[in-house]
Amino acid sequence: METILFLSNTESDGTLSKTAYETLTAAVDLSKQLQATLCIGLFGMKTQSAADSIAGCGAQRFLAVEGADFSQARYASDAAACEALSRASAATLVIAPQTSRLSRVMAGVAHRLHGEIDTHINGLTSDGTLKANRCFYRQRIEATLSRGVRPWVLLIEPSSFVAWSGSASAVTVESIAVTLADASLRTTVEGMITPPAEQQTIRPDAKLLFVAGAGWTKKQKDGQPHLAEAETAILDFLKNTNASLGSSKSLVDLSGEGQAVLGFLTHLNQVGQTGATPRHPKGLSTCCHGEEPHVVGWRFITDRRAINLDPNCGWARGKADVLYVADAFEVMAKVNGMLAAEATIREETAPAVHG
Ligand SMILES: Cc1cc2nc3c(=O)[nH]c(=O)nc-3n(C[C@H](O)[C@H](O)[C@H](O)COP(=O)(O)OP(=O)(O)OC[C@H]3O[C@@H](n4cnc5c(N)ncnc54)[C@H](O)[C@@H]3O)c2cc1C
Repeated sequence: METILFLSNTESDGTLSKTAYETLTAAVDLSKQLQATLCIGLFGMKTQSAADSIAGCGAQRFLAVEGADFSQARYASDAAACEALSRASAATLVIAPQTSRLSRVMAGVAHRLHGEIDTHINGLTSDGTLKANRCFYRQRIEATLSRGVRPWVLLIEPSSFVAWSGSASAVTVESIAVTLADASLRTTVEGMITPPAEQQTIRPDAKLLFVAGAGWTKKQKDGQPHLAEAETAILDFLKNTNASLGSSKSLVDLSGEGQAVLGFLTHLNQVGQTGATPRHPKGLSTCCHGEEPHVVGWRFITDRRAINLDPNCGWARGKADVLYVADAFEVMAKVNGMLAAEATIREETAPAVHG
């Protein structure tokens, strides 16, 4: 019988990340399918409240490596904690979230355990034998993997499962002691440098992906480009909706070629074959042609809409659910006006707070 270890770090505030809760769903579902023993392994500065929050997940054991030495993302201490938790649980399957912190260490941990690892897993099934699904070649090829080697470490891709929710209560956590040599503590994280919130345009948790294409920079019907208006239209929409900003390759490449473009876009915003494959319930493409190398990045966008002047653009050829054949400058000005009016009404009707 398999023993499944759900393995995760806790965040700096002692909670579990959204990706960790999604991964827990994968581990819980699999334990039911395989009738396997489920163990929880947590590490970080504090773990008790995170363990309590998932008390109802059906785990037989809760194990933790806890303390200041394990609060920072550092290869040596993270790998030691993950190895100790895997050994203490005698896990045959280790299921962990595909976060940057765990991705960095789990291949090494699998090696230390004489096991094997597969990453970017987006589905788990069993017909008696465990099968793990992942995509290759920019999500164009779907593969089903199985392995005889144990332990088998599986990193679960974010947004592949619904986040686990269930009852919380006080659980007994078994503390696993890990002693670190001085050499394992040499690296320290001195701080985090992140862009200000308004410049942080890539928002993986957003409900909507807003894609800007090269059309925003092209000459419009008056024979002139309108970059300033394009910038205002896009940024106002992002501010009003908290949407995540994607781009076509053509638009981000223009900045590389030194042309005047929208300053807030980088190659990190690029969606497509040589860009990202984000996951959002809805997507709105504007001034983007909808060519296959771009649209392949929309694989996980459920409801797709596009605004384009050209009724024969790629989106019209079965790539979008709805195509608005219209001028995106005009449409977005109207939409932003409506969103701003709605925000004003919300502010006016919000109950006053008396200090
Ligand atoms: C190997 C390879 C890999 C690639 N990888 C990627 C990738 O990862 N991502 C990617 O995006 N591309 C990729 N491409 C490029 C891709 O094929 C297209 O060239 C690119 O997506 C085109 O970008 P675009 O639609 O923004 O620009 P354009 O093709 O220039 O389209 C601009 C569109 O804007 C519309 N438009 C203009 N003004 C308005 C207006 N006022 N209102 C509404 N619509 C308007 C026009 O009708 C036009 O359809 C790749 C290509 C290759 C060969």
